[in-house]
Amino acid sequence: MANIVPYLGTALSNLFRKPSTESFPAGEPPKAQPNYRGRISYDASKCVNCGMCMRVCAPQCMTRTQKPLEGGEPGDLEITFTFDMTSCTFCGLCSDFCARKAITLTDDYMMTGTTAEDFLVTGSFVKKAPPVKPKFTPEQLAAMKAAAEAKKAGGAAAAGQAAGTAAPQTAGAAQASADTAGTANAAAAETTAAGATAPAAAGTVSGKAPNAPKFTPEQIEAMRAATLAKRAAAAKAKAEAEAAAGAGENAETETK
Ligand code: SF4
Ligand code: SF4
Repeated sequence: MANIVPYLGTALSNLFRKPSTESFPAGEPPKAQPNYRGRISYDASKCVNCGMCMRVCAPQCMTRTQKPLEGGEPGDLEITFTFDMTSCTFCGLCSDFCARKAITLTDDYMMTGTTAEDFLVTGSFVKKAPPVKPKFTPEQLAAMKAAAEAKKAGGAAAAGQAAGTAAPQTAGAAQASADTAGTANAAAAETTAAGATAPAAAGTVSGKAPNAPKFTPEQIEAMRAATLAKRAAAAKAKAEAEAAAGAGENAETETK
């Protein structure tokens, strides 16, 4: 009992003094010091989804999710950024690197809660799908179509003109070959057949574009037949000349 007597006076005097502490959280909390870095504030309306804040955050305390926008156009997305204050070190780099100033560190230091969600800061914005821009306007398409049709018509006319020139030439070549063949009836017959084929082939060419092959298979076959006929006629003429020369020598010998 004697030991507590010195403290009894102090205890009694403290009963009538004001408390030396402040009530918390009751009442107005004191302001944070200037430049204090507290709870993050995220303004999704300023965010452009560049992702720079996620790159510079060392503890990787932010996540970005996206899902199709309900009731939106195909391709529209709802993007959500979530900052986890339980991982944040309040370094402020995300705020410093955000060019749009969408992130700020407030002076809110009273981060208490009872669930994990109490320590999350989230914000969402809509990213619209880029409009599908047609490569050409309707006017450009119409102009291109008209140009293609004009080119097609011009090409057909040129092809027809070229065919009209080529057909007589081909037929004439076949006929000249037949003339050279002379008395070779079989060859002449072949040549005539070739000559008959040539105009038909020329008729085929008339319907083709200017960049079509120079000769059709029928024309090639006609030219080949004419060449064979020419060779056969030359061989026959040579044989007849040699036979005539041999007969002349025999008559001369008998006369002697
Ligand atoms: S908050 Fe800022 S840095 Fe992060 S994605 Fe948005 S605009 Fe980019
Ligand atoms: S303040 Fe630092 S740790 Fe916190 S979210 Fe921003 S970059 Fe990450």
